[in-house]
Amino acid sequence: MTAERHVDVLVVGAGPAGLAAAARLALAGVGRVEVLEREQEPGGVPRYCAHGGFGTWTRPLTGPAYAGLLVEAAARAGAVVRTGVTVLDWAVSAPQRGAGNCATSHDGAAADTLAAEHLGLTTIGVRGPETVTARAVVLATGAYERPRAARLVPGTRPAGIHTGGELLQAVHRYRQPIGERVVVVGAEDVSYVAAGTVRAAGAEVVAMVTERPRAAGSVRALDARLRARVPLLTGTAVTEILGHGRLSGVRIRHRDGRSGVLACDTAVFTGDFAAEDGLARRGRIALAAGPGPYTDRPGVFAVGGLRRPGLDVRAATREGAGAAGAVLEWLVSRP
Ligand SMILES: Cc1cc2nc3c(=O)[nH]c(=O)nc-3n(C[C@H](O)[C@H](O)[C@H](O)COP(=O)(O)OP(=O)(O)OC[C@H]3O[C@@H](n4cnc5c(N)ncnc54)[C@H](O)[C@@H]3O)c2cc1C
Repeated sequence: MTAERHVDVLVVGAGPAGLAAAARLALAGVGRVEVLEREQEPGGVPRYCAHGGFGTWTRPLTGPAYAGLLVEAAARAGAVVRTGVTVLDWAVSAPQRGAGNCATSHDGAAADTLAAEHLGLTTIGVRGPETVTARAVVLATGAYERPRAARLVPGTRPAGIHTGGELLQAVHRYRQPIGERVVVVGAEDVSYVAAGTVRAAGAEVVAMVTERPRAAGSVRALDARLRARVPLLTGTAVTEILGHGRLSGVRIRHRDGRSGVLACDTAVFTGDFAAEDGLARRGRIALAAGPGPYTDRPGVFAVGGLRRPGLDVRAATREGAGAAGAVLEWLVSRP
């Protein structure tokens, strides 16, 4: 049996953007503001970023410390954060509302008929399945680094291949061994974070490899690479994954046609972010291209990495907090 509840604002995703939006809206006194998070802990990506780079120059913070401040601020403001709850799909309220009368949309087909007054989402968590309706919904589901499969890198399917986020979790959260010789694919800020994590775990960074003609990233990150003497191969693509059981190497090709093999037991595909937009797509909801947290569905807003994959954490937090104005405007126009 699916339980039904109603809140005033439902925020999907307790990362920096969602938490900042929830805190600002709860402070504004819009009623019940609830944040749903599929992980067991709130905080989003920063939860497992043990490196610095969060906070400000005058107040540097690690990721978990930064996430902790945002969680605290949201709770202090009166927002309710529920973890271990995955939002699955959009629900459609039947015209005559009664007990158990919410139907789930299939492949977004029914989403077209979603009534703005009763935006509904189906969820699954420790309490079992639920349908939560809301006057406004803020999507703050973040972004993900494209894994090897999405980058269409041919070859075998051995163990030892991660994204940057997976590497950070393996090292900092689960204390898992990651291998000894690591190739980092990418040369943007998150790639340097991955390289630093590899070295902190006691492994060697064989090389950083990027198809770009030069490395991106902050001066601080570039400086750290030089000091650690990590080789950087620019204009170079990973063209094949090698090895059975465990990764044994990656084949690379330089843009001038030269090719070779980098022997390694681990490869980390970093950056190249894409929006975590499955939920928006299930509802056939398009995010507005211009500035502002708008979508083409009245009452549904989008913020943070979902809207701009790859943005830094302070921009995501600012965007979440800034979205509160648009949500408030919507709520006031629909008392
Ligand atoms: C490896 C890595 C290192 C980084 N290092 C830095 C750094 O040093 N400095 C910096 O400024 N930025 C860094 N960033 C970027 C920073 O983490 C992002 O800018 C920020 O996390 C974006 O916040 P967000 O709230 O939009 O998304 P996220 O932090 O991704 O949060 C989204 C949340 O939504 C949840 N969610 C998604 N779908 C659902 C669903 N259907 N139901 C329930 N919950 C859901 C997710 O579990 C997640 O907790 C890094 C990113 C990565 C991947």
